Amino acid sequence: MTTISMSNEIEKLESDVLVIGGGPSGLFTAKLLSGSGLKTILVEKDSEIGRGVVCSGVISKEAFQRYALPENAVVGRIQNAELYAPDGSHLPYNHPEEAVYVVDRHIFDGELAKEAGRAGAQILLNAKVTNLQVTEGGVQATLKTPGGEKEVNSALTVIATGVSYNLQSSLGMGRPEKISKGIQVEVIARDVDRLRIYWSSQVSEGFFGWAIPLSDGRTRVGVMTEGDAATGLKNILARIGPYTNICTDIGRVKRRGIAYGAIPRSYSNRVIAVGEAAGLVKTTTGGGIYYGLISAELASGVILEAFQRQDYSAKSLSKYEKLWRSGIGREIKYGKYFHKFYSRLGDKSLDALFDAAQKDGLLPYISQNGKFDWHQNAVIKILRSPNLRKVLLWEGINQARTNVALWS
Ligand SMILES: Cc1cc2nc3c(=O)[nH]c(=O)nc-3n(C[C@H](O)[C@H](O)[C@H](O)COP(=O)(O)OP(=O)(O)OC[C@H]3O[C@@H](n4cnc5c(N)ncnc54)[C@H](O)[C@@H]3O)c2cc1C
Repeated sequence: MTTISMSNEIEKLESDVLVIGGGPSGLFTAKLLSGSGLKTILVEKDSEIGRGVVCSGVISKEAFQRYALPENAVVGRIQNAELYAPDGSHLPYNHPEEAVYVVDRHIFDGELAKEAGRAGAQILLNAKVTNLQVTEGGVQATLKTPGGEKEVNSALTVIATGVSYNLQSSLGMGRPEKISKGIQVEVIARDVDRLRIYWSSQVSEGFFGWAIPLSDGRTRVGVMTEGDAATGLKNILARIGPYTNICTDIGRVKRRGIAYGAIPRSYSNRVIAVGEAAGLVKTTTGGGIYYGLISAELASGVILEAFQRQDYSAKSLSKYEKLWRSGIGREIKYGKYFHKFYSRLGDKSLDALFDAAQKDGLLPYISQNGKFDWHQNAVIKILRSPNLRKVLLWEGINQARTNVALWS
């Protein structure tokens, strides 16, 4: 990896492409573009790649195989899980094979950075882009660095800033529909021997909580919610049984937002947004690594074509949005249907839903046919379940009763 530490002599840099953000989406884009011969500079605001990341690091085997991801970052493997209802009852979820890996994001992102560097990308740390100026001739990025303000000029810029939308907004590309809350801590939990997922209003509003055992005895406990994240985490910790808080940096409670829904426009003149910076995150689970890599691949293809034609206009780059919308875009849409339906359910309905899942054979269906990254078919199957419809009807009656009680 060629890492440039900014010094006072470097006032202006020139590149074909500037990639803003050193997470998986930006690093993979930089690797693909520099590997195809474009002079690529990646800038990262933090002092180290992958250091401050808040993430559970769950990535499918499919993603690992498709992109030959760094195996040395794997710290856990998941085959079976337990799904917890609000009343504490739980269902086993057994997958026919080991389908999911858990990574250490510090190692994972660091390896992707090495790959980008080997492909020829230059990586600048401690460099935060504060402004983008798009002109007829290129894009001028203003950087805040410890050595003062700097400038990078590029023909095209890729925004890969994760859950940070100031640059996109300033260019009229917009923001995601909403930002959910993510919170996580690593503990030693004696009783957690497989992945646990918790659905309950006590743990999360609109989403769920998790406990993920790693191979070295640590357990990642976290919550994705639209409500009070700290209370959700406290309640989930109370449910996992005896645990010890780890008094190290990783044992600290960490928080971060999670994008919900794609931004209105993922391209503009001379600019493309990839990964979570474009809101390309699963609306069911908040997972964003795989969709980020897919979007990086799609964006790189469109960028290379733009360089061949020397046409960096919004029209030329719009192909990128068409490509991701026809694949992950549909998943994001179906995930929203599910989220809207799920958010309406109270704890009693959720308990009944677990019951319905057993009666309708939904779980065996999902474990046999469901895919970790592609939820569309599972969502359709769940929403069509006859016992589930009864639950919905019941929920509708309950809501009508509540409304009557409120108004009378
Ligand atoms: C609690 C929690 C658990 C999660 N668990 C999972 C999971 O198990 N699996 C999964 O797939 N996803 C998970 N996610 C989501 C996942 O972490 C993100 O979707 C993923 O990291 C997005 O990758 P990215 O490269 O698009 O952005 P990021 O990884 O966020 O990288 C963006 C980078 O850009 C840098 N940056 C931002 N602004 C600037 C700027 N102006 N100038 C320079 N640099 C800048 C940031 O410092 C950062 O390094 C989780 C999220 C949370 C909060």
